[in-house]
Amino acid sequence: MKDIIVLGSGIAGLSAAFRLQQNKLPVRIFEKDADWGGLCGNFTLDGFRFDRFVHFTFAPDPEVQKLFAASGPLFNHPPVSCNYYHGYWLYHPAQNNLYPLPTEEKVKIISGFVNRRQIPVEQITDYATWLRVQYGDYFAEHFPFAYTRKYWGAEPDELETKWVGNRMHSPTLEEVLKGAFEKPSEIFYYTSVMRYPQKGGFRSILNALHEKADIALNKKAVFIDPKAKQVKFEDGTSAAYEKLISSLPLPEIVKILPDVPSAVLTAAKNLRNTCGYQVSLGFNRPDVAKYLWFYIYDEDIPPARVYSPNLKSPDNAPQGCSSLQAEVFYGNTDKIPPASEVLQKTVDKLQEMGLFKPEDIVVKDIRFEPYANITFDKNIYQNRQTVLDYLNSLHIYSTGRFGKWAYYWTHQAFEDGKKTAEQVIDDK
Ligand SMILES: Cc1cc2nc3c(=O)[nH]c(=O)nc-3n(C[C@H](O)[C@H](O)[C@H](O)COP(=O)(O)OP(=O)(O)OC[C@H]3O[C@@H](n4cnc5c(N)ncnc54)[C@H](O)[C@@H]3O)c2cc1C
Repeated sequence: MKDIIVLGSGIAGLSAAFRLQQNKLPVRIFEKDADWGGLCGNFTLDGFRFDRFVHFTFAPDPEVQKLFAASGPLFNHPPVSCNYYHGYWLYHPAQNNLYPLPTEEKVKIISGFVNRRQIPVEQITDYATWLRVQYGDYFAEHFPFAYTRKYWGAEPDELETKWVGNRMHSPTLEEVLKGAFEKPSEIFYYTSVMRYPQKGGFRSILNALHEKADIALNKKAVFIDPKAKQVKFEDGTSAAYEKLISSLPLPEIVKILPDVPSAVLTAAKNLRNTCGYQVSLGFNRPDVAKYLWFYIYDEDIPPARVYSPNLKSPDNAPQGCSSLQAEVFYGNTDKIPPASEVLQKTVDKLQEMGLFKPEDIVVKDIRFEPYANITFDKNIYQNRQTVLDYLNSLHIYSTGRFGKWAYYWTHQAFEDGKKTAEQVIDDK
């Protein structure tokens, strides 16, 4: 009997395989990289472990939490993060924590907030207007507009708003005023706890799934023949399948299918995403990392966000050391500067911010991820439906963050892998 094949060993692929195994179905995972885990993976340099981007779990479902904790205990971190804005450090969310700013700046932000336009949210379709209506013009232009360019690689008016959900806090006037005088006691984050494995990096939440999985590494799928039900790999081997689940990014899978209609190719080409560098730094001092993570609004400083691997878990750095990983994002159609330039500029700017001195650095690394976030421009829903309908017509089950082209956190990618496997089971 031919196997069910899963392409990709990220959390969605592992979850799909796990669910199929529970039904005693034969399933093999083929992964292009030399290691498993996809975006949940990590790398270690001279004893410093770095995840591939920030990564905490805030899965709400107790069953999923139990599975993620099955490989070992997790730390429960309160989601306390910070913002860097032209030399000032403000706790997150910035508009609730204005107290460190000069009076003149506070006045501009607060009067902008008080005089903000009043438009019913359901009538707003673009993100720029949404930001102005939630926060007022001055704050919107100086904080989230700048951050949108840095994190989403897009102008706010290019984006739609359905993705926002509860991700961003909309403060009351009372909250803004209180936070302009003193540090609020409340945390206004969309989750109350950020969990992280005590040992082994973020990927450890998947150990229980990985132990049971049959994964072939270094197997990059380069051609799928949906009629012959066969996948060909870069190393010249191939595998026949009974059913195919793919967690490949939609713009990638259409490139390895034969005779794709031009409308589908165009829709896939018009899907937008961010890509980005991870600048990973290890220090010979224990105290460089001060915040679990922080955001940077200054547009002359490349990273949008910086996090501290050793504060997620001390297991991520040698004793007496600390570490930072800076995330520098671009739109997928932007001209991407060379890695050496981004590394140098990031290190120089973080130094100028007073975070460390050149002699503190013992590990310095930069690497690139071609797929980071899905960009919610105004055509996303139509374009992604066109591609998904086509894959459906070929009986290819697409799953995960880039397979569904959705703003999934890890637990949502996990749920999607499970749901996709259940569709395969139902269709058998
Ligand atoms: C900057 C950033 C920060 C994030 N932070 C968090 C967070 O704090 N908490 C959270 O819950 N989520 C976070 N996420 C989201 C989380 O990373 C994703 O939801 C999740 O990892 C997606 O898993 P996936 O399996 O769908 O995709 P992936 O992890 O991308 O897996 C796809 C797999 O397919 C493989 N593949 C690709 N092409 C081929 C091919 N041709 N042949 C074979 N294999 C192939 C890839 O190598 C990869 O292993 C973050 C994401 C980003 C970008």
